Amino acid sequence: MPATKSYAAHSATTPLEPWVLERRDPKPTDVQIEIQYCGVCHSDLHFARNEWGMTVYPIVPGHEIVGRVTAVGSAVTKYKVGDTAGIGCLVDSCRECDNCKHGEEQYCTNGFVFSYGSMERDGSGMTYGGYSKSIVCHEDFVLKISDNVDLAATAPLLCAGITTYSPLRHWKVGPGMKVGILGLGGLGHMGVKFAVSMGAEVTMLSHSPSKQADAERLGAHKFVLTSDEAQAKSVMGYFDFILDTVSAPHDYNMYLGMLRTNGVMCCVGVPPEPTPVHSMSLVFGRHTLAGSLIGGIAQTQEMLDYCAEHNIVSDIEMIRMDEINDAYERLLKGDVRYRFVIDMASL
Ligand code: NAP
Ligand code: ZN
Ligand code: ZN
Repeated sequence: MPATKSYAAHSATTPLEPWVLERRDPKPTDVQIEIQYCGVCHSDLHFARNEWGMTVYPIVPGHEIVGRVTAVGSAVTKYKVGDTAGIGCLVDSCRECDNCKHGEEQYCTNGFVFSYGSMERDGSGMTYGGYSKSIVCHEDFVLKISDNVDLAATAPLLCAGITTYSPLRHWKVGPGMKVGILGLGGLGHMGVKFAVSMGAEVTMLSHSPSKQADAERLGAHKFVLTSDEAQAKSVMGYFDFILDTVSAPHDYNMYLGMLRTNGVMCCVGVPPEPTPVHSMSLVFGRHTLAGSLIGGIAQTQEMLDYCAEHNIVSDIEMIRMDEINDAYERLLKGDVRYRFVIDMASL
């Protein structure tokens, strides 16, 4: 049981600090990865501070994991030592339910296992995430990463990338569609890049005037400052599809009003508190309010290959492991351009 350096939160109100965890030795079907970079998702912060009321402490966050394969079990067929590889939010599922059989392990009806804060399926202990030196995982949940990409800027694709790519594919976003991306943070900036690359007309819906130039640089065709009443009014009844990536409570009714007839708004942001939705916001215009959770393993691989082909990576700010608590404060202020990535060599 190799002792592994990590950073953990021990309660909702204390900062993350160094901690040593025990990783399992690789089983026959396992891959061991030395972690080089790990992205910082707002979900890490929600979990570390128990904002969703389901955290088990100590918790080692981090589910945007990339690095090199350092060991493989005797039965592993897809990876060898030295390969570049990644792990996202999922490390296990039942593989037998209807959803697993259709490549949607994130909706496993027998209980998927998240890369941190979950009980292992065999009950052997909790999972610990990527704010650590290494990780061990069944090869079925490891992703292949091309050697030709910017590895640090690829890490955020493992969550921010797949979480935005998956619903854009599910709702068949493409040419001729008017798409709004709500919130320009880690998920939002990937949403803009993907929706633009898929050929849609893309509008950035942001409450931060300082982000307009960046939205345009990322490829958005329009920018709407949602806190400006006149600007918000100008897009009422306008969008075929809105992807809502906002991490804090906000008025869904206002954004549902921006949909045209039969329009869909899909939430991927998960604010800690619920917000009331008036049925009027749905019935007038036959609107749909939907949600989406990350994406399955096959689609995550498809997204990584799509990014390699289209030269898509995340815009990142590299931080040291000991800067993580400051990074969380900056996330809360919307002060990230547009994903923090931890250089694991600093741990
Ligand atoms: P992030 O980088 O912090 O971005 C969130 C963005 O939301 C901010 O940049 C800001 O954009 C907007 N925002 C923040 N506070 C706001 C407020 N009070 N009012 C209006 N807008 C506000 O976070 P992230 O990592 O992209 O994650 C976003 C959310 O998605 C989190 O709740 C996270 O847990 C969730 N998530 C869900 C999944 C899933 O599978 N469904 C996967 C990953 C993450 P503007 O400044 O442009 O307004
Ligand atoms: Zn995430
Ligand atoms: Zn299943």
